Amino acid sequence: MDTVVAIAESVRKGEKRAVEVAETALARIEERDKDLHAFLAVARDELFAQARAVDDKRARGEALGPLAGVPIALKDALCMRGVPTTSGSKMLEGWRPPYDATVVARLRAADALLPGKTNLDEFAMGSSTESSAYGPTRNPVDPTRTPGGSSGGSAVAVAAGMSPASLGSDTGGSIRQPAAFTGVVGLKPTYGRVSRFGLVAFASSLDQIGPFATDVRGAARVLSVIAGHDPKDMTSLTADLGDYEAACGASVRGLRLGVPEEYFAEGLDPEVEASIREAIAALETDGCTVRPVKLPHTRHAVATYYVIATAEASSNLARFDGVRYGLRVEPKPASGKSQGSALRAMYGATRDAGFGPEVKRRILLGTFVLSAGYYDAYYLKAQKVRTLIRRDFDAAFADVDAIVCPTAPTPPFKLGEKTSDPLSMYLSDVYTLPASLAGLPAISVPCAPTRAGLPVGLQIITRSLEETTALSLAAAVEAAGSRRGEGRR
Ligand code: GLN
Repeated sequence: MDTVVAIAESVRKGEKRAVEVAETALARIEERDKDLHAFLAVARDELFAQARAVDDKRARGEALGPLAGVPIALKDALCMRGVPTTSGSKMLEGWRPPYDATVVARLRAADALLPGKTNLDEFAMGSSTESSAYGPTRNPVDPTRTPGGSSGGSAVAVAAGMSPASLGSDTGGSIRQPAAFTGVVGLKPTYGRVSRFGLVAFASSLDQIGPFATDVRGAARVLSVIAGHDPKDMTSLTADLGDYEAACGASVRGLRLGVPEEYFAEGLDPEVEASIREAIAALETDGCTVRPVKLPHTRHAVATYYVIATAEASSNLARFDGVRYGLRVEPKPASGKSQGSALRAMYGATRDAGFGPEVKRRILLGTFVLSAGYYDAYYLKAQKVRTLIRRDFDAAFADVDAIVCPTAPTPPFKLGEKTSDPLSMYLSDVYTLPASLAGLPAISVPCAPTRAGLPVGLQIITRSLEETTALSLAAAVEAAGSRRGEGRR
């Protein structure tokens, strides 16, 4: 499939009609998605209405936006007016949001096409898309393997050529890890860079929306459309945007790279390590300098994240009680009960039927760590460790411009391999969680696959708001890969 930029340019020049692009995307979805299950809803009528509107706009001689005619699939945690939004849960089955998320409104304003909503782990809780209430998504590289998660559907939509770009959300790795597992580019921007208004909240001090794309420049262009201040999200930053697209292809000569020894420890697959070291060596050939850095609190990141994220989730998910959204389950009538207890019974029956086991586990854990008597020992302690993790990065960035490391410790694992062992699933996030806890931007870019052809992603973490540096380095890695002939699938 053509890249984001190639499609937008050919639609702008009139070489291709947006309706033709929509037809190609839909044909590809029909052909591939039976087996892969990346989409939860395909918005066929909306897609053609948008495409016709773009073509009409051009026919009237009006200037087209930077994403003219470019299909962009949306993780199903993002609200798109009138289109079912489930967040991968039975709890929201049949709910149609009455409004667009800010990012969706911005994509529309840039003349993008919105083909539909993609599968995810329930409420974005997971690393494999297997906790979705609607069944797993498969990895197009090897359908017996997971595409990662939680934004697995958005990654697969791009990897399988169904959409040249998509949006995901990343709370602890949910854009970067599935990008690495499927061989595409995935970018988690700085916390606050992109508005979350209209994103179904998981852990509000961590959640951030970002793009997947077939190439780095495509991700940069999508970021330049969705980023920027939004008064509807109180965590949204007012800082100026970088020139994200110009950053792709800019020289990386003289950039100082830090390699954290803690990220090359036990549990790292040797083939992943070899591929990462090769990508770092290619950056060195391009004129970067490489030195070791220390991020000593890395080993506490998994525990810290799973206290903070579950605490916030237990609070955010309290709103799903059968009163306002989606599912309501009436309990069996019990005679002699007060009205108040009948209401509580309805809450209980709804939440019991609506949430899957992983979400229930997180609500229980989160409620526990926030409860009187345990708050100081768990939640408060985790907040303190989070500060230490952030300070590790501050210290490292005094000496280097970017940190380079694996995105995930292993290549994509088999479906079912970790579903009965939550701890091993949580450990697959070990390299993505620290940047999330520190609020830093991080990108995953494909590097050399394993001998069996499984994708590997290099993670590049930079200082707050320095997405531009990450994009320049990612583009250099991508260029080195195509020089070696690692063509995209
Ligand atoms: N895999 C992590 C979790 O299960 C991160 C998920 C995410 O970033 N949404 O919480």
